[in-house]
Amino acid sequence: MITRAQQRDAQERAAALMDAARVRLAPGEHQAIAVADFGLGRLEVEGAQILTIVETDRIAAKVIALLGGQTLPEHWHPPVGDDPGKEETLRVIRGPLYLYTPGPDTLAQGAIPPGKEACYTVRHEQVLDAGDTVTLPPGLPHWFQAGPEGAVLYSFSTTARDILDGFTDPDIVRQTVIAE
Ligand code: ZN
Repeated sequence: MITRAQQRDAQERAAALMDAARVRLAPGEHQAIAVADFGLGRLEVEGAQILTIVETDRIAAKVIALLGGQTLPEHWHPPVGDDPGKEETLRVIRGPLYLYTPGPDTLAQGAIPPGKEACYTVRHEQVLDAGDTVTLPPGLPHWFQAGPEGAVLYSFSTTARDILDGFTDPDIVRQTVIAE
């Protein structure tokens, strides 16, 4: 749960990061930035700010802004019906962004959120900077974390069904509750 004030503050900070990364928003569009705390109630540590540009039954494009050190928790995009699951391409606009996928543990630049060792199981680190692009196949567990100054990236994908994503952390609830 986050408060309305926390939501607005995170929207403003995300919009400022996007602006600094030269991602232009329409007037008032910062209010459409979704602030996700994944039900964990510690937005600055584990959370994300996500602006959906397009989301149809076939494709999705989003801008994701992460505050300094903020982590988007480990998750994967499972199959849904005949769909093998979301294939996702990340394109970094402002880095560094620390991306973690399966493979040898090379975690060095980023850090596991305190107390959450069991919830971050893939630790093969890639340090991505502006212009770097990575495509993640459906079902592949991944998580990412902004460097100290925050990060901005595009996520281009096949159809997104965020609500059906799998998360390693059993405490995660995908829908963020905003307290007035
Ligand atoms: Zn993902």
